[in-house]
Order: sequence, then C-alpha cells, then structure tokens
Amino acid sequence: MTPPEILRLDAVTKGYSPKLPPAVDQVSLSLREGEILGLLGPSGCGKTTLLRLIAGFERPDRGTLYLGGQPVVGSTWLPPERRDVGIVFQDYALFPHLTVEKNVAFGLQRRGGRRPATEQGLSAADMAKHTAAAIALVGLEGLKHRFPHELSGGQQQRVALARALAPRPAIILLDEPFSNLDVQVRLYLRQEVRDILRQVGASGVFVTHDQEEALALADRVAVMNQGRLEQIDVPEVVYGQPASRFVAEFVTQANFLPAQASPQGWQTEVGCFTAESNGAPPAQADLMVRQEDIALTEDAGGEVVVRDRQFLGREYKYRLQTPSGHLIHARLPLDSAIAVGRRVRVTVPSQRGQLYPAMGQARAEVTRPNSLSAPLV
Ligand code: ADP
Ligand code: MG
Repeated sequence: MTPPEILRLDAVTKGYSPKLPPAVDQVSLSLREGEILGLLGPSGCGKTTLLRLIAGFERPDRGTLYLGGQPVVGSTWLPPERRDVGIVFQDYALFPHLTVEKNVAFGLQRRGGRRPATEQGLSAADMAKHTAAAIALVGLEGLKHRFPHELSGGQQQRVALARALAPRPAIILLDEPFSNLDVQVRLYLRQEVRDILRQVGASGVFVTHDQEEALALADRVAVMNQGRLEQIDVPEVVYGQPASRFVAEFVTQANFLPAQASPQGWQTEVGCFTAESNGAPPAQADLMVRQEDIALTEDAGGEVVVRDRQFLGREYKYRLQTPSGHLIHARLPLDSAIAVGRRVRVTVPSQRGQLYPAMGQARAEVTRPNSLSAPLV
C-alpha cells in the first residue's frame, strides 16, 4: 500500500521583490509518509525559501500548500508553531546558555505554542522521557550536561537534530545541515542521520547543494534552478535521464561535446553518433557523454591529447584536449594509466550518451533530450 501523502505544494510562488524574478517559482511537489526528499540546487536557487514556506516562516504570493491533506495557506493560514514541522539549520542555531538536555527539551516546550508543555498534556515526566529518548537517538547520552561551546560541530548538529526530532514532528526539514562540517564528519553524520530518520520513520526534506549527498541520501531528488523545479524523481533517473541541460550539468558533471547534424549522424570532434529525434532536429546540438563512459586507447596518430591525470584512489581522472581546445573529462580504472602528453583515441563503448540542444538555445528545447541509438563510429 502506498503511504499517505504528508506534504503537497501546488504551484507555490514567492518573490521578495516585484523587480526580481520570484525566489520560488510555481513549485509543485509532494512527499509521502516516511519518504526523504533531497532538494538539490546551486546557491541562491530558492531552496531555503522553499523550506521557509513549508515551515510557515514565509507566505507564498500564490499557490497552495497542504500538510497531512489539509490546506495551510491559501484560503487559510496555519502559523509555524502549529504546523508539526521540525527544522535543522545549517548553523545549528542552538541556545548557547542552555545545556544539551535543555536545548533538546526546548523543542518539546515549543510544541503547540508558547504555553508551557505541562499545560499541553505533556507531563514533566513525559517531557524528561522524550528528551532522554531524543538524546539517546543521536548518541549523546554522555554529554547531556554540556553547553554548545563544549561540543564539536558534528555534536552540535546532533543536538539540533535531537531538538527537532524530540516532539516527533510529522515532517523534518534539514537545511544544508552538514555544510559547516569538515568532510569526514560530514560523511559519517549523513549516513547516521539517514539511519536515524529511517529508524523513527520520519518524513523529511533535506536541502543540499552537493549532488553526491542528494543522490546518496534521498529516496527522491528534486533539482531546483532559479526558483523552478527542473526535475523530481528517484536518484537513478535523475542521474541516468536528466530532464534538462541544467540537471545534466549540475547532477552528472558530464561532458558536453558540440555536435553538428550530418547525413551520417551527429559529428563531434571525437567521432560520429546517430541519435533519434522527435520532430525536426536542430542543426547543432551538444552531446552529453559521462566521464565514466569514456574509453581511451593510446594512439600516436590520435588527435586528442592527455593534458592531466589525477589519481583518485580507485580510479584516474583524465583531462583531455581535443584539436579545437575543448576539454573532456574521463574517469578510468587504474590499469588505464596513460601518461600526460600522450595522444589517444576516444570511444564510448557503452554507447551511452544523450543529445541536448546547444547552449544558448531556448530553454523549452533544452528540456527534451534525445537518447543515442547508435555508438560512436
Ligand atoms: P538557497 O537557499 O538555494 O541558496 P535562498 O532561498 O536563500 O536560496 O534565496 C533565493 C533567492 O532569494 C536569492 O536570490 C536570495 O538572494 C533571495 N532572498 C532570500 N531571502 C531573501 C530575503 N529575506 N529578502 C530578499 N531576498 C531574499
Ligand atoms: Mg539556503
């Protein structure tokens, strides 16, 4: 059985100034119970604004938002404290003068407004129990009497997570929660947060500008660009079939080779491809080829030159230069080991690649990539 829908946005738009394009532009999406949605996009694309709209810190100019099937803006307005939403911010936002325990308990007091929790049916004993459970969930039992300045960044972010989870909110919103942490802490904490959210069955929206993080953590990924949602799907589809040139570049970091239409197919500097086309194909397009789909053969007569080779532990990353000066990035197994300065032949054995209208063409065209039907010749 499909879990019930817990959040729905219907064409939600929010601008900060009438002179500027909206920060969030006609965004529609939904979240099911227990689902983790990764909201991915570059800085300034509207991710935080979208979270603030869900939490009720901002009102949309247009559109409707439903929580648990009930509209909370539009004909009605439900204030943030009554939305049953927990938030974790990038900068932890802990109270410096309160201990870990009191910071976490604060999340329980806030529930249902400013009245003390004891007046809302949560006894002091229940509050203590919920607080202890949330602290245990994030593994900070031994540190509950410490103050935030006595904790590492990773520990502070765990406190923030415990504080958000303690009231068992219907939805938890995480706004780039790991971006202030160093890479090692970030890697293990993100796995842990995913495990914790799964363990308590929480539904959440997880904001990040890191595509690897979004693909690794989320059940579905929503990609935003300039306030608009360009694609929302499971990670495999977003990576495998990017809906637009923007998604392809931002998520897959693939190569884009200028290609010209010819009777034989699409001519590129490294060979000729044929591609299916719906409707009249443009004369020019860009062929997307992923870094991991390229094969190299050393060939003294080859026109492509190895400009750089980076050792990445499990693989090499090559920077290759075509005769026109175009750079191609390729990732290959360690047994490839072709020296810098050598000439190579480039092939795409998997035959994978997609055609996107060339840069600078109308956006509407960009949203319809074509799949290749034949290999590089
Ligand atoms: P992100 O979180 O993806 O970096 P934001 O939602 O913070 O993006 O910002 C989206 C756009 O809205 C940006 O252009 C930003 O400058 C603008 N913006 C955000 N908050 C405000 C605000 N309070 N007042 C005016 N403009 C804002
Ligand atoms: Mg932000």
